Amino acid sequence: MINLVGKELALHLNKALMEDGNQFKASTGVTPTLAVVLVGDDPASLTYVTSKGRASKRLGFDHRTLHLPETTSEEELLTLLDQLNGDVEVDGILVQLPLPSHIDELKVIQRIDPIKDVDGLHPYNMGLLLLGEPRIVPCTPLAILHLLDHYQISTQGKNVVIVGRSNIVGKPLGALLSQKGRDATVTLCHSQTADLKSHTLAADILVAAIGVPQFISQEMVREGAIVIDVGINRLADPNHKRGYRLVGDVEWERVAQKAEAITPVPGGVGPLTIAMLMKNTLMAATLHHSRRNKFV
Ligand code: NAP
Repeated sequence: MINLVGKELALHLNKALMEDGNQFKASTGVTPTLAVVLVGDDPASLTYVTSKGRASKRLGFDHRTLHLPETTSEEELLTLLDQLNGDVEVDGILVQLPLPSHIDELKVIQRIDPIKDVDGLHPYNMGLLLLGEPRIVPCTPLAILHLLDHYQISTQGKNVVIVGRSNIVGKPLGALLSQKGRDATVTLCHSQTADLKSHTLAADILVAAIGVPQFISQEMVREGAIVIDVGINRLADPNHKRGYRLVGDVEWERVAQKAEAITPVPGGVGPLTIAMLMKNTLMAATLHHSRRNKFV
């Protein structure tokens, strides 16, 4: 069984990104700057925002965290985004999801300037992706493509089954893998899929992006499959100093006995996703700089 470790790969990518970032700074005088907006105090979101700040710092990028109270109104958030859109020093904007239920997520995403949309979730960027002309691609699908490429796992002619149809993972990943060049036959499953097991058992490559701890059991995976576990779930564990441990959406130990290759959790897709956010920040900085200088 091959352990598809993303952690080391992320270290290499970050090193290359730091060099690219330094070159960008030297040629433009601009330091790539990421603004992360967090509304409320969800503990997992706080952790993600902190690690995004740390990653920016490590690469020598500038970073701003804008932490707003849970009671922030939709209008206040949209006004802040207008300010960040117009701020010449801000290259990338990320609004940490999920947002409190009184705020319309789509309205917020649509308000971000598409060239500063480092999450790649703006309808313009999603449209380009669907048309086979991707520009800023959502970080987790991009991380999975990098992982597959690094381990030389071809998707050509393969049955790829993705469980989970979210806008940040399942849908864009399905669109990317079914494009010419990737050439997978993609099945996108969700909570209403009938006889899910019959689909997962047909997968050459199975991607689990469900958000239910250890949902994919050994019985749902065929011998020799490649398994990509996107899930990051907190399981209460008094033996851990934090009081919980992280597990994926796959029943890892038993599935690993059957799989040809599998990503670990933690240390698989997660660290690569953050590296991809940094890659998107640098791309946004390049696009932003070109627009300021009227190259685009
Ligand atoms: P999400 O928006 O909650 O979507 C979950 C998807 O799973 C939905 O499409 C849902 O179906 C489907 N689903 C739920 N229960 C199901 C069931 N019993 N059978 C089949 N499908 C089912 O989740 P997400 O944002 O994509 O995240 C998924 C997981 O990935 C989470 O653990 C999250 O923490 C993790 N994640 C990790 C990274 C990373 O960097 N590694 C990045 C993003 C997310 P319906 O559409 O029908 O509701």
